[in-house]
Amino acid sequence: MMKPSIRNQALRLFALSLAAIALLASILLAACQEEEVKVGETARVKVAVSLAIFADFVREVGGDRVDVSTLIPAGADPHTYDPPPSRVARLTEADLVIVNGLGLEAALQDVIEENTPSSTPIIELSRGLSATNDQQSANPHLWLDVQNAIAYVERIRDALVEIDPPSAESYRANADSYLAELRTLDQEVATAIDSIPADRRKLVTFHDAFSYLAQRYGLQVVGVVVASPGKEPSAKDVADLVEAIAAEGVPAVFKEPEYNSRILELAADDAGVEVCTLYSHALDKKVDTYVKLMRFNAKELVRCLA
Ligand SMILES: [Zn+2]
Repeated sequence: MMKPSIRNQALRLFALSLAAIALLASILLAACQEEEVKVGETARVKVAVSLAIFADFVREVGGDRVDVSTLIPAGADPHTYDPPPSRVARLTEADLVIVNGLGLEAALQDVIEENTPSSTPIIELSRGLSATNDQQSANPHLWLDVQNAIAYVERIRDALVEIDPPSAESYRANADSYLAELRTLDQEVATAIDSIPADRRKLVTFHDAFSYLAQRYGLQVVGVVVASPGKEPSAKDVADLVEAIAAEGVPAVFKEPEYNSRILELAADDAGVEVCTLYSHALDKKVDTYVKLMRFNAKELVRCLA
């Protein structure tokens, strides 16, 4: 009678010790994982970028090894934005600062130079790429040609590899898959715009941001509301624009989300054409990545011009 009960007790004891071992193992594992997360957090590379589009590029390449902050908030005009002290702190803490250059961040440039620690590299994404000149100064909006965005991403990859060599393999692998996605995107945009009849591929936008997009994908920039952001157009500028819209037979005009579209709407009303939307430097809740921005623009161009 004793034997089975002893065996039962022994089995129960064995089961209990197995459970205890499993519990201990899971506690140890959790502790290790927690430790890993902590190490990962302290080792993250702090990157400060001017535009949300560049933050998207840095996250694609850096993944969870980077901590990205954007200097220019959503809805602000990068050409005239002057950051408050709370945003300047993002520069003083950064390991790497990434800007476009070519005067895009005109109002921000001095703040960046004065507040970035001397040991922190400042990368200018447009440097060395061929830029076109409008109104005697270089046009900074290179990224709206996907080929240039590819060059930007390669530059970001190289900067991260240089500043954080232990993670080089991860940065290269992430960049490779994102660059492949961008090459597909380039073809997708080209194919979409190709479907618009040649004589209707005409652009009238709020400011002069789309010359690289026009060049790469075969569109013609017919007119803009403002020669450079921050300046009010004169009555004559607006009259000239209305005339150009009519003379060129422009099917639609394009506002940009971060700019007041009142003048463009008046001009469109006068010329009897539709007002559509193109994204230049802003991202928002609906269009929250560079890939989505280019896809939205291509779709909108087809919808409004074809
Ligand atoms: Zn611009």
